[in-house]
Amino acid sequence: MAPTNEQIAAPKKDTPTFSPNKVTVLFVLGGPGAGKGTQCANLVRDYNFTHLSAGDLLRAEQDRKDSEFGDLIKSYIKDGKIVPMEVTVQLLENAMKEVVEKDKDHKGKFLIDGFPRKMDQALKFEETVCPSKFVLFYDCPEEEMQKRLLKRGKTSGRSDDNAESIKKRFKTFVETSMPVVDFFQKQNRVIKIVATKTPDEVYKETKEKLEQRLGKEF
Ligand code: UDP
Ligand code: MG
Repeated sequence: MAPTNEQIAAPKKDTPTFSPNKVTVLFVLGGPGAGKGTQCANLVRDYNFTHLSAGDLLRAEQDRKDSEFGDLIKSYIKDGKIVPMEVTVQLLENAMKEVVEKDKDHKGKFLIDGFPRKMDQALKFEETVCPSKFVLFYDCPEEEMQKRLLKRGKTSGRSDDNAESIKKRFKTFVETSMPVVDFFQKQNRVIKIVATKTPDEVYKETKEKLEQRLGKEF
C-alpha cells in the first residue's frame, strides 16, 4: 500500500509500532553488489526470516499504477540517490504490518535488506517502527562490486546496473551509507562479514557469526 500524505505527515510517536521484545529486526547492509540479497535468501531458507528489500519495495511502488511517488522513485534510483525517507520507512512498516497481521503466530523475524542507507532513515525507523537487534554488514571492495553489478546488469533489467549509475551509487554508499554503519559500530551493533569469497563461504561466516550472537534458536 502506498503511504498517503496523511501517513507521511503522521504525528511523532512516542513508541515504535513493534516491540523489539516480540519482533526481531536485523538490518542488512553493504555496498551495491556486496551480496546482500543472496545471503538473505539463504537466511530465509534456514531461519524462517521474512526478507524485505527496501530497493525491491521501492521498485514495486514505482511500478504501481496509482502511486504518486512513481516518478520520484524512478529518478532517485537511476541517480543512485536515497529516496526521501518518509516513503521508504512507510513502505517497510506497511510490509511488516501485513506479515505480522496475516500470521499471528509468526515470530516476527525480519531481514531489512539495503536499509537504512542514511542516518535520518536509521533514526526514524528505530524510533517509529522497531529498533533493530544489529546490522549484518557485508564488506566488499568497490572493484569486486562493480564487476558483479556489470554482470548482473546484463540480465537484471535494472535501470541502475550500468556504469554511470554504479559510479553514483558507490559515491552515495561511501558518503551517506557508511556513516550509518559507523554509527551502529560505535554501539557495538555491527556484525562484519567478508563478502569477497564465494557465496557458500560468505554464508558460512554469516551463519557462524549470527549464531554466536543470537544462539541457534532465536
Ligand atoms: N533506495 C533508497 N532508499 C533505501 C534503499 C534503496 O532510496 O532505503 C534506492 C537507492 O536509489 C538505491 C536503489 O534504491 O540505489 C537500489 O537499491 P537496492 O537495495 O535494490 O540495490 P543493491 O544495494 O541491492 O544493489
Ligand atoms: Mg539488493
